[in-house]
Amino acid sequence: ALLRTALKCKTFPPAGRLCYSTSVPTTKLFIDGKFIDSKTSEWIDVHNPATNEVVTKVPKATHEEMTAAVNSSQRAFAAWSDTSILSRQQIFLKYQQLIKDNMKEIAKIITLEQGKTLADAEGDVFRGLQVVEHSCSVTSLMMGETLPSITKDMDTYTYRLPLGVCAGITPFNFPAMIPLWMFPMAMVCGNTYLLKPSERVPGAAMLLVKLLQDAGIPDGTINVIHGEHQAVNFICDHPFIKAISFVGSNQAAQRPRARDSGGARRRDSSQGAKNHGVVMPDANKENTLNQLVGAAFGAAGQRCMALSTAVLVGEAKKWLPQLVERANKLKVTAGDQAGSDIGPLISPKAKARVCELVQSGVEQGATLLLDGRNVQVKGYENGNFVGPTILSGVRPDMKCYTEEIFGPVLLVLEAETLDDAIDMINKNPYGNGTAIFTTNGATARKYTHQVDVGQVGVNVPIPVPLPMFSFTGSRGSFRGDTNFYGKQGIYFYTQVKTVTSQWKEEDSTLTSPAVVMPT
Ligand code: NAD
Repeated sequence: ALLRTALKCKTFPPAGRLCYSTSVPTTKLFIDGKFIDSKTSEWIDVHNPATNEVVTKVPKATHEEMTAAVNSSQRAFAAWSDTSILSRQQIFLKYQQLIKDNMKEIAKIITLEQGKTLADAEGDVFRGLQVVEHSCSVTSLMMGETLPSITKDMDTYTYRLPLGVCAGITPFNFPAMIPLWMFPMAMVCGNTYLLKPSERVPGAAMLLVKLLQDAGIPDGTINVIHGEHQAVNFICDHPFIKAISFVGSNQAAQRPRARDSGGARRRDSSQGAKNHGVVMPDANKENTLNQLVGAAFGAAGQRCMALSTAVLVGEAKKWLPQLVERANKLKVTAGDQAGSDIGPLISPKAKARVCELVQSGVEQGATLLLDGRNVQVKGYENGNFVGPTILSGVRPDMKCYTEEIFGPVLLVLEAETLDDAIDMINKNPYGNGTAIFTTNGATARKYTHQVDVGQVGVNVPIPVPLPMFSFTGSRGSFRGDTNFYGKQGIYFYTQVKTVTSQWKEEDSTLTSPAVVMPT
């Protein structure tokens, strides 16, 4: 019914929205199993980044609404954590099928609100879907350990048990994948959830929650609030919440950290990045150039694993003209247009920031080999487009290098040797991802062992691990207890209870108290 109401709207609206007589639908809250209209007086406009038209208004949930949401999650915990693991698994098995069936609808919402191309938006959903599929292995993943006969008549075994209410705060750049990194693993383990999606792209999360409801999740097990830092503060301060997952910028990540100085709850926080691709002169030139261009400019560079910085070693620096040629061929237009390679940036502010950082590079002495700042996109003159941009001769002291750009900008640095490249990368504060392009196994091995970055690709430009592994960004790109998804995700969302039990035969009953430690 929600979807049907939504389809009457002028602009394509996501699920969970109500159309008023005006053409702008509002995004709802999801509290205690119901999509409800917020009573707030404060709303945030969500724009289509290709046109800057308002597509929905997102409420800044009131304190009462946020309290109702967290209370609902808290109430639902006892029954949900007591639900058999097979029943929870069945719901998520059904859920993964519903996501597959609705992949294109979710992708459309992502393109509308976030701007990325439709094909890339499907990839966004698909990589989240893989986490849901993996979470369906919970019956193996949640198993504890046992050790019989640790001493006479005594056995020890462990259970992995859910924590309680867990919460997630997500960024704009992966509207489906990143929420799906969080609540499926948490909930399949028996936790209940409070989600605060990015206020800039709420639609995909709302449809995903609607599908979870259709899959049979009980009321209250997941609640969704909207807002900016007030909602984040609410989550960080609320005593019911036992674990907080955050993905976003380093600047915003400071808030959950600052508000949890006592370390009272679990935290995992994936943050900003500056990912380097080292190009050795022995690399397969054709593959490397194509991979670099795809990984630097795909999703308009708005990926935390975008390969935004190329380090050309030795003779590889001669490949620059071909790199520019390939980048220049990418088509810049709205994400729902045929053949689009690069969609718009999320906002005019993001565009202005990217352009300023490019300009700072020029002023500090870098060479602008390709300038996409004034790109004109026919029919989308109001969009936040920046075309592929390449700055060469970049040095580590330049502002464009020290700051995360988060746009379709490739910085090119040079290094005489592999050691010099490794040294430069290890001095950069971020550690999300990196790649080396080479045909020499010993070079690849040396790099993977010596580079201090959490996710390394060998001839793989964006080495995001599949969900049976974990997302292991490191150093300035990660703060927290354990990483997202995979075994580490299970560890994050469960606590271990260890039971030591002794069952003696009647005839070996103790005859006196044991007052010393057993040895
Ligand atoms: P953001 O930090 O602006 O927002 C992330 C979340 O934090 C949102 O839900 C937002 O409402 C909230 N928030 C924003 N400002 C806040 C503040 N002052 N106090 C408290 N909460 C605040 O990030 P974004 O622009 O949406 O996303 C892009 C950033 O996320 C980039 O830095 C990117 O590298 C990073 N990111 C990292 C990963 C990773 O896995 N390492 C993945 C995706 C995105």
